[in-house]
Amino acid sequence: MKQPLLSLVNINKYFGDFHVLKDISFDIEQGEFLTLLGPSGCGKTTLLRCIAGLESIHSGDILLNGSSIKDMAPNKRNVNTVFQNYALFPHLNVYDNIAYGPRVKKSMTEAELKERAANVLELVQMLGYEKRMPHQLSGGQRQRIAIARALINEPAILLLDEPLGALDLKLRKHMQTELAQLQKKTGTTFVYVTHDQEEALNMSDRIVVIDQGEVQQLGSPRDIYNNPVNLFVTTFIGDRNMMRVRVLETEATHSLVQFGENVVSIRNSGQHQLEVGREAVLAVHMDKMRVSCHEQPNALVGEVLSVHYSGSQIRIRVKVADRQITVVEYQKIDCECEKGDQVYVTWEDHGAILLPPEDGWAEGEV
Ligand code: ATP
Repeated sequence: MKQPLLSLVNINKYFGDFHVLKDISFDIEQGEFLTLLGPSGCGKTTLLRCIAGLESIHSGDILLNGSSIKDMAPNKRNVNTVFQNYALFPHLNVYDNIAYGPRVKKSMTEAELKERAANVLELVQMLGYEKRMPHQLSGGQRQRIAIARALINEPAILLLDEPLGALDLKLRKHMQTELAQLQKKTGTTFVYVTHDQEEALNMSDRIVVIDQGEVQQLGSPRDIYNNPVNLFVTTFIGDRNMMRVRVLETEATHSLVQFGENVVSIRNSGQHQLEVGREAVLAVHMDKMRVSCHEQPNALVGEVLSVHYSGSQIRIRVKVADRQITVVEYQKIDCECEKGDQVYVTWEDHGAILLPPEDGWAEGEV
């Protein structure tokens, strides 16, 4: 079997009494774009800093190509970090910023350095900016130089800690595409930290969802989006309507559930056993639902509370069984439904999922 590039093995980390990383284990493959995603304070940056060697771990191991690096100094680990605040040297021009690492390490001659610097500047589309000082660059350009400065060392892994966090929305979206392309072009393994689910879903080969220092799910963006393994991932990723339902029948792929007067067939998560007669949580992506004035099979019957148009999006709030659900449509709906109309709400099969309820979960909270 192919050896993973990096293995995190049962990592535990404390800040005083606070258990910040709890038994974290997963592998990172050569050449992948892997994102650590989770809410603020869940431990993403701490985990990245442990990989970089900027934080020590209390137990467990970190293996790079099968060898432990946990006791190795940061500059010996063959990993480089790009931070949100760029951390460029303000008194050095672009070229000297990029040349700084190799010069300190004495890892290349000045001639090699010149060639490599031109290569990485071309990669980040900043050739010709060598003489500029950092304050003469835009935020996006500074971020590109920070990435070029990390890439020149040809690290086995590039660690990126919310590198686009300081940019405005438009530039951030542009840089997301650029970064993903750059990663594929260089073949460098990227480990990327963000709390922004859209960013993670757009860029990554795989995503590790973390909550309170624990890995919740590891999978492809599609897997995480369509097949969340628990209620945390279900509520954290995507906008869903969450409904408490009763399980009437359950088979291999689908279950029959009751929500108010409605009895509908819903896809099982495949990860959990649902019990007949017990409650379950029905989670449906708002943008995978449709509203119709005409009777539909396998539908929830409800009453329109409001219809709101914003650009290409139509948000329709519908009352079903005393609960309010939201449907987001991107095309013209097949009826001009209005407040008070009776409608039939359907959904794409893969947009809905059934999960067992968890302690403390309350329908109204979502
Ligand atoms: P964000 O998205 O806000 O950057 P994060 O998921 O990266 O959050 P971390 O920075 O890893 O979170 O912090 C995890 C937890 O550890 C937080 O509760 C934080 O307050 C705490 N923490 C981080 N660094 C230290 C430290 N040096 N000493 C004590 N507690 C710390």
